[in-house]
Amino acid sequence: METLTKNRIGGLHHITVLADDAKRNVEFYAGVLGLRLIKKTVNFDDPGVYHLYYGDQTGSPGTILTFFPYRGLPPGQRGIGQAVALSFSLPSSSLAFWEKRLKRLDIPFDKPVERFNRETVIGLEDTDGLKLELVFNESDKREGHAGTHIPAEHAIRGFFGTELWVSDYTSTAGLLTEVMEHRLIAEQNNRMRFAVENAPGKYVDVLVPPDTGWGKNGNGSIHHVAFRTPGKLTQNLIWEKLRSEGMHPTPVIDRQYFRSVYFREPGGILFEIATDDPGFLVDESAETLGQNLMLPPQHESRRQELEELLPKLDVDLSRYY
Ligand code: ZN
Repeated sequence: METLTKNRIGGLHHITVLADDAKRNVEFYAGVLGLRLIKKTVNFDDPGVYHLYYGDQTGSPGTILTFFPYRGLPPGQRGIGQAVALSFSLPSSSLAFWEKRLKRLDIPFDKPVERFNRETVIGLEDTDGLKLELVFNESDKREGHAGTHIPAEHAIRGFFGTELWVSDYTSTAGLLTEVMEHRLIAEQNNRMRFAVENAPGKYVDVLVPPDTGWGKNGNGSIHHVAFRTPGKLTQNLIWEKLRSEGMHPTPVIDRQYFRSVYFREPGGILFEIATDDPGFLVDESAETLGQNLMLPPQHESRRQELEELLPKLDVDLSRYY
């Protein structure tokens, strides 16, 4: 198989999750975890539903977590063919801070465990049952952003990685290594870790869980995992490579803050390749990110109707300080 020039894929771009109540979602991610709500927009394909984006100060790729909150959505079921967990990266020195904080806020969490002899992991669930991990490590060079109620030195740095469940390693591992520029960087028990570079924000852990059925998407499920690429040119090259390897990537879709192609990887999980440009400052200033409802041109004429339809997000975060 032809070798690609490196750096067409740069690790994770964003992860998108299905949720239930929008207000509760903001309380958990902006309140409990202290992420910045960087964009309040609508699902472009279903504009009666919010699309909420969280991230660091400016929504850097590798820190972006997004939600479609569908009120009353039935719960999903974790299983094969899904990304079942996402993890956040934190400095090792912040472990005690977070244990104390989660206890104080009555958020249940698992006892810390060691993984790969180099990271300490605390498992928990969000309010919709999504599996989350806080991964305390020494290798994240990214800065925690100031400006929320979490002190910058203890702030979430961005993603650590994600965890995929598949029925066999071969196809998914083959796609990651031979088409998407990843390499196997660690292996322990039934966990194989892939990355384009050995750094937080880039890890894709692939597991074959025993005696597990296929997952079902619903509330608390990861809808898709997006990988970053610099821009249009590199995205086209990946698109062509995917096509030549028998994948069926969609045409490029304009998502206002990035351009996307989607495809289902051979293990059944929906992947996306999203461009770094233009980014989240395209329609708001860095200071006011996330404060107003932003609509793409195709939905701007429906602003008044949508503002009445969408639930109010008047959240008092001070109880999470
Ligand atoms: Zn996406």
